[in-house]
Amino acid sequence: MGICRYCGLRAGWFSDAHDSCIEKAKKDLESIDASMADAVLTGKTYSAVSSMTEKLIGSSIPDDQARSALQSGWSKGAELRCKKEPISLSEFSEISDLYKGAGFKAEDMVKTPGFRALTLSYLIWSVLNDQIDPYQGPIKFNLQAGETPVFGLANVLLSEKKPLTPMSAATTGQA
Ligand SMILES: [Zn+2]
Repeated sequence: MGICRYCGLRAGWFSDAHDSCIEKAKKDLESIDASMADAVLTGKTYSAVSSMTEKLIGSSIPDDQARSALQSGWSKGAELRCKKEPISLSEFSEISDLYKGAGFKAEDMVKTPGFRALTLSYLIWSVLNDQIDPYQGPIKFNLQAGETPVFGLANVLLSEKKPLTPMSAATTGQA
């Protein structure tokens, strides 16, 4: 007799989960995702959402699934909020505190679209408000006097569109 991996009760022959339990877990994951996104968008602290999310996580949802719902909710919220307008340093901290509250580190979030939006949005804010923290990473710039590096991106391929003249097309054709 199979045991349901969600509720721990008997699930019948050849079955490891009740349909109703799978359905409920899916809904719970969606509400974790949505409440994390909402917290980012409306400026709540993690403690305002954790009472709800942690009850759900404690009950039936596997830990890794709950974590990825929190991560994706955070990223969605951060992407929307940070693309709407440039965010200040205090907003940057407020939004970062949400993923930290949920037990994530910056390394866990760095590849999410939300984290990219967060970083670039703050950089734009710092330029607009004359509060640039000059870039000190590994990329070298050829700067003119009075210019300040703001942002460095490694391994960027620069490409240039060139119209092909009939002559060069012919030359290319022969090559
Ligand atoms: Zn069940």
